Amino acid sequence: MNIAIIGSGLTGSFAAISLAKAGCRIDLYERLSDEELINRDRCYAITHSSRKLLVNIGIWQSLLSDLVPFKYLNVIDCGLNKNVKFRVSDLNNLDKKYSCVGWIVEHKKIMLSILEFISKIDNINKIPTSVIPNTTNYDLIVAADGANSATKKKLKTPSFKFDYDQVCITAKVLLRGVKSTEAFEILNNQGPFAVLPLGGDLFQIVCSQSVENANFNMSRSKSLFLDYLSTILPYGVEPDSIIDEPKAYPIKFELNYSFHSGKYIYLGETSHLFHPVGGQGLNLCWRDVKCLTSLVSSPLLKKNKFSIPIFYSISRLVDVLSISILTDTLVRYSRSNLNIFFIPRFLVFLCLKKSRFARKFILNIMTNGL
Ligand SMILES: Cc1cc2nc3c(=O)[nH]c(=O)nc-3n(C[C@H](O)[C@H](O)[C@H](O)COP(=O)(O)OP(=O)(O)OC[C@H]3O[C@@H](n4cnc5c(N)ncnc54)[C@H](O)[C@@H]3O)c2cc1C
Repeated sequence: MNIAIIGSGLTGSFAAISLAKAGCRIDLYERLSDEELINRDRCYAITHSSRKLLVNIGIWQSLLSDLVPFKYLNVIDCGLNKNVKFRVSDLNNLDKKYSCVGWIVEHKKIMLSILEFISKIDNINKIPTSVIPNTTNYDLIVAADGANSATKKKLKTPSFKFDYDQVCITAKVLLRGVKSTEAFEILNNQGPFAVLPLGGDLFQIVCSQSVENANFNMSRSKSLFLDYLSTILPYGVEPDSIIDEPKAYPIKFELNYSFHSGKYIYLGETSHLFHPVGGQGLNLCWRDVKCLTSLVSSPLLKKNKFSIPIFYSISRLVDVLSISILTDTLVRYSRSNLNIFFIPRFLVFLCLKKSRFARKFILNIMTNGL
C-alpha cells in the first residue's frame, strides 16, 4: 500500500515506522529540518500502552537508557488536603513486571532516537516540504500535521473546540525532599499541576493556571518564580533552582467530529488536542497509530482500501472520547472550589484511597486506554 504521511512529529514519525514495518511504502512529508524537530523543550509521560507499541516496532531497547521510570503517582487534592498514591501493585499483572507505573522521557531524546530509527528503514522516503500531497498518488493520506493542521483547514473538517482560559507553564527544576521515583499530580484551584521525575533531583514541572497569573509569574525573576513554586509544591518539597527558562503555552481542547475525510485519516493532535497535564496526549496519539496499523494489516481491508478511513474513525471513537472526558473532568475537578462539590470530591478520594479496585480501574484506563 502507498501511504503519504503529512507531518513528522512524534505521531507522524511513529506512524511511518509502524506502517513501514507492516509492509507499506511511506512518503513522509515534513516542513521542518530534523534539528528543528528535535529542538523542543518538553517531556512526556510514557504509559504501558506506549511501551507495548515501542516494543512491537523494535525501538524499546534502544530507548531504555533515556527513560526515567517512576514507581508512584501521587495525586494530591489541595482543596481537600488529601492524597492518594497509585503504585505498581495497582497495575494489571502483565504491566506489573516492569516495576514502574510509567516513564518520563525528554522530547529531544525520544525524537532523536525515532529519527535515527527512520533513517535505517528503506521503505520510508522523507520529503522536505509543506505542500499537501496529491491524493491520486496514494492509497491513503495520513494527516499528522499537528494541532494547527493545514490539511484539516483545506478539507474544512469541522471540530468541537474551546479555550481553557488557562496557560501551561513548563520548567525544569531541582527539588529537595522528594523521591526520584515519584511523580505528582497536584490538583489546586488554579488548575492541575504535574511534577515529573527526570533523574536524580531534576524534575519537570507542568503547571496550569489562569492567563492573568501565568503572565504575572512569567514576568517574575527566577528567584521569585522559585518562591512562588514553593507555595504550590507539596509540604516538605522545596525547589532549589530553575535549570532552564520557564515556557508558557496556551491550552485548548479540540476534537474532530470525524477522524477521516475521504482518503485522508487524521492522526494524533490533528484529530484530538487536550489539556497536557493528564499526560495522555502522546500515548493517545500512538494508540491511533496502533489502530491504523492493524486496519492496514487486515487481509479483508487490504482488498477494500477505501473503507479503511471509515473503520478507523469508528474504531478510535471510544478511546479518544473516554480519554478526552477523563482529562477534561480532571481539569474541572481541580478548578472547582464551590462548596457544593466538596462532598462528591471527598467521596471520590475516599473511594480511591480505600478501594484497590477503584485505583486499578482508573490507573488501567490512564495506562492502557479503553
Ligand atoms: C507543554 C506540553 C506538555 C505536554 N506533555 C505531555 C505529556 O506529558 N505526555 C503526553 O503524552 N503528551 C504531552 N503533550 C502533548 C504532546 O506534545 C503531543 O501529544 C504530541 O507532541 C503530538 O504530536 P503530533 O505529532 O501529533 O503533533 P506535532 O508534534 O505538532 O507534529 C506535527 C508536525 O507536522 C508538521 N507539519 C505541519 N504542517 C505541515 C505541512 N503542511 N507539511 C509538512 N509538515 C507539516 C510540523 O512541522 C510538525 O513537525 C504535551 C504538550 C504540551 C504543549
